[in-house]
Amino acid sequence: MNSLRYNALGNLGNLQIGKEVQGIARISAIFAENVFTAQSARTVLSDEAYKSLMGSIEGGKRIDRAMGDQIAAGLRAWAESKGVTHYTHWFQPLTGTTAEKHDSFFTIKSDGTAIEQFDGDALIQQEPDASSFPSGGLRATFEARGYTAWDPSSPAFILEVGHGRTLCIPTIFVSYTGESLDTKTPLLRSLEALNKAAVPVAQLFDRNVDKVSATLGWEQEYFIIDAGLAMARPDLVMTGRTVFGHSSAKGQQLEDHYFGSIPERVYAFMRDFENESYKLGIPLRTRHNEVAPAQFECAPIYEEVNLAVDHNTLLMDIMARVAKRHGLAVLLHEKPFAGVNGSGKHNNWSLQTDTGVNLLAPGRTPKTNLMFLTFFVNVIKAVHDYAGLLRASIASAGNDHRLGANEAPPAIISIFIGRFLTEVLQEIKERVGDHFTEQDEILLKLDIHKTIPELLLDNTDRNRTSPFAFTGNKFEFRAVGSHANCATPMTVLNAIMAKTLEEFKAAVDSYMEKGEKKEVAIMEAIKDYIVASEKVLFEGDGYSQEWHDEAARRGLPNVPNTPMALDSYLTEKSKKMFSDLGIYNHAELEARHEIMLEAYIKKVQIESRIMGEMCTSHILPSAIRYQNLLVDNIRGLREMGLLGDAFSNQMQILQKISLHIAEVSAGVERMIQARITCNAIEGTRDKAIAYCEQVKEVFFDKIRYHVDKLELLVDDQLWVLPKYREMLFIR
Ligand code: ADP
Ligand code: MG
Repeated sequence: MNSLRYNALGNLGNLQIGKEVQGIARISAIFAENVFTAQSARTVLSDEAYKSLMGSIEGGKRIDRAMGDQIAAGLRAWAESKGVTHYTHWFQPLTGTTAEKHDSFFTIKSDGTAIEQFDGDALIQQEPDASSFPSGGLRATFEARGYTAWDPSSPAFILEVGHGRTLCIPTIFVSYTGESLDTKTPLLRSLEALNKAAVPVAQLFDRNVDKVSATLGWEQEYFIIDAGLAMARPDLVMTGRTVFGHSSAKGQQLEDHYFGSIPERVYAFMRDFENESYKLGIPLRTRHNEVAPAQFECAPIYEEVNLAVDHNTLLMDIMARVAKRHGLAVLLHEKPFAGVNGSGKHNNWSLQTDTGVNLLAPGRTPKTNLMFLTFFVNVIKAVHDYAGLLRASIASAGNDHRLGANEAPPAIISIFIGRFLTEVLQEIKERVGDHFTEQDEILLKLDIHKTIPELLLDNTDRNRTSPFAFTGNKFEFRAVGSHANCATPMTVLNAIMAKTLEEFKAAVDSYMEKGEKKEVAIMEAIKDYIVASEKVLFEGDGYSQEWHDEAARRGLPNVPNTPMALDSYLTEKSKKMFSDLGIYNHAELEARHEIMLEAYIKKVQIESRIMGEMCTSHILPSAIRYQNLLVDNIRGLREMGLLGDAFSNQMQILQKISLHIAEVSAGVERMIQARITCNAIEGTRDKAIAYCEQVKEVFFDKIRYHVDKLELLVDDQLWVLPKYREMLFIR
């Protein structure tokens, strides 16, 4: 049989398994060798230039022109010593991917001399004329200029692609009038807002705190399958997920893949992309098999949020590229295969002071525990007050397939904190009217030596069903999709936390103005926050129907689809919060809302088109061919004079096949009509909702049902699309 499927299957027998991957003795020997770290900067910069760079990294100080030129020259010297000829401003436009436009250091002087040059202007700002990136109307096309500007807080790095080496300078991407056109700008603004709001609160406990930053440790889940098989599936190539495919006889029910031994071919791929990542300073630490067959996870040591986000986007890039070298395809889609687990990207988030304290870890003394409780309860209040916005921050067409499906948290945002802390909060609450003292036993109870083991015990197993969980010294936002840029949920989380902390500080101040002692004022404010937000706490099974009912009773939002979830960005409350904090102005918010709706429409549209195309040019031809075989067979038997009994089985199969063929072709026809109706709709939101409700929800599962039945009926030799068992189980 001559099909891509059979060729790919045939090739699987004689694979070369990653022999070319070099072994490395120690990770530390290559770690960050392609990053312009403080140490590498020290070797190429004058004292003055080095000080200016550090001042900008640590204190956000402006770099003047002369210093800019010096830093650029040093950066070029360092890069050239590593064989770099080109540089690029590296940024994250609203397409959700990363963007580069390469320029060479090479230039020709007025007298014709060819030289290499890189000055401060080229380092600090560029106009890439990237007018085709989505801007949600923020840049009219006649004013298409977008600028990239250097973000010194994320170090420059060298990307190696084949033999080419490019110096990448992390930048923000903004319009001529200063509106953000990327994901990094608002993220940086949110970190600034958070710092501004958190420092005064931290200073209630420790005067020495001058800076509070947020930390992020992401856990990246992904599927890895044979590239030949992936290429034989137009749906995987075009959409990243299989729109058809009957589940295989064996799925994940045996749970034999989770934490199992890693197949050799995948292991070679992992070692290869890990080495690439180490060179770029991405501190990967863990790797293991996930629950679904062919599903894996990797996670780094946590870092400051901005850097962690850059590292995650970079990693997704590297994984895709390295996979190709191994004849593999990495699938980052949230739900590449129906019926088995989808992929998420847990965002572990915490707050850290410049004095080295994790504000979400219980401490050793009553004072540090009061500080912990303060920040802990502020997170709960923030999530309670802005649950809809958090839901919106993780909304995407891909994640809609995953949230609330068999394994993932539902679209209801709730928080799991464990039995121990639930009791602590309860105790505090029950003492309404009482006055607390600094030596209160509740605070002693939170002693780190006793608490941490309790918290870990709490969090071993039970909390997997929660979208947002406290895990001992950080919160874990689990509803984030595997393909997402973490900047978006992190921006929202930082923002709502900043807003909540501001209000908290004001509440404490007002208790103190009424004459309360500081510690008592803080405790009172904490108590108020617990009372106001406890309905968002939930310890039970988030997957259960009871929880859906209970959540509705509590009035918690549950918006299962993206177009409607995105509404939360545009409520008066959200708009005010974002603009008060200087993160998004109204125009920026509306532009983003528009862009996300458009992305949703396009994704559903493309999935729908590819379904139609696969039905007409892959599935129906295979089915009809088999139908003909049956017809010939029955006709032949009949011509031989045999009666009905002799071919009753064939007749039965023929009838089934004919029925499914009819359903598939009618379904495709009606789906095309539905798309035409949707395309005529004017408003982006209405159109997105129509695509969701009239195309996706009406047709996707229905057509799939009949296609998947055909897959089981049609002769395997005639079926051209790789099957689930082949993609998921052949290594
Ligand atoms: P698990 O694997 O059980 O979820 P780990 O302790 O291994 O728990 O941590 C998972 C992730 O949480 C890792 O990426 C780790 O770097 C991150 N993490 C740990 N501490 C923090 C912190 N203070 N802030 C942010 N992320 C953290
Ligand atoms: Mg985890």
